[in-house]
Amino acid sequence: MKLNTLRPRRLRQSSAIRDMVRENSLSVKDLVYPIFVVAGENVKEEIPSLPNVYHLSVDNAVKTAKEVYELGIPAIEVFGLPEYKDEIGSSAWDLNSPVQRAMRAIKEAVPQLVIIGDVCLCQYTTHGHCGQLCGHEVDNDATLKLLAKVAVSQAKSGADIIAPSDMMDGRIAVLREALDEAGFQNVAIMSYTIKYASGYYGPFRDAADSAPQFGDRRGYQMDPANSREAMKELELDLAEGADYIMVKPALCYLDIVRQVRDRINRPVAVYNVSGEYAMVKAAAQNGWIDEKRIVLESLLSMKRAGADIIITYHAIDVAKWLKEEN
Ligand SMILES: [Zn+2]
Repeated sequence: MKLNTLRPRRLRQSSAIRDMVRENSLSVKDLVYPIFVVAGENVKEEIPSLPNVYHLSVDNAVKTAKEVYELGIPAIEVFGLPEYKDEIGSSAWDLNSPVQRAMRAIKEAVPQLVIIGDVCLCQYTTHGHCGQLCGHEVDNDATLKLLAKVAVSQAKSGADIIAPSDMMDGRIAVLREALDEAGFQNVAIMSYTIKYASGYYGPFRDAADSAPQFGDRRGYQMDPANSREAMKELELDLAEGADYIMVKPALCYLDIVRQVRDRINRPVAVYNVSGEYAMVKAAAQNGWIDEKRIVLESLLSMKRAGADIIITYHAIDVAKWLKEEN
């Protein structure tokens, strides 16, 4: 073979040619912006480990939701810090908790914005675990009943999608049944299907005040060493009726995203988690990296791996950057 017959550089010669042959792209429509709602009025407090991400009272959550919608981002995911905590996390299904109040207010102010409700108990329990305890263990089946109450209360408050992040066995089937029984057949379930026990959640636990008071979450979240087990979780959630499949965190688990994408025909979401965000922000603040370039490259790599939806704290910045480029 002659040396000069295969020249991939022909397809990289100019920006126009590169545009023609580009295989993947990032759009504002791929993004979901997570928000943290707290009690009170006119609260907007920056979360120290998540620069430019805030604890918002309901009034400010509505303002942020409007901004998100006007930027063209299709959805927000709502997390909350409750006014009270107890052993079973009952504030999670209290219709007057900040999350439920924020959902109602956002749905009224920006009805076209898709509201995703995070369903878990760790932000609402005194012990910080994701379910009801029996001794020092999380009781799976007792927890399912509580999660069903949370899902229904969020659906009543205006959530379009319920996103269970607890990793209890059998939860998708139980939540589906509970939503249907309550008349919410059209509320979809975005399952945190494959959620690893990850060190990358550190800043989120400050943000959501949800660090476990003892032990850790390895008894229910997945071992980062495993991928076959991820496919088992996937099969279960598909069988139980999950409408969207999520992999969390994103960047360390893009191989898993690819495996999921190749196996299924339902939408795949990734959660670009707090630790991934905080590392980029810290390096950027030190002038060590080009923040915009690193963020766009990271999110594009999630698309390339097969993600349809990216939940990210960078969403507002990315929406603005993409607008500048067009
Ligand atoms: Zn949890």
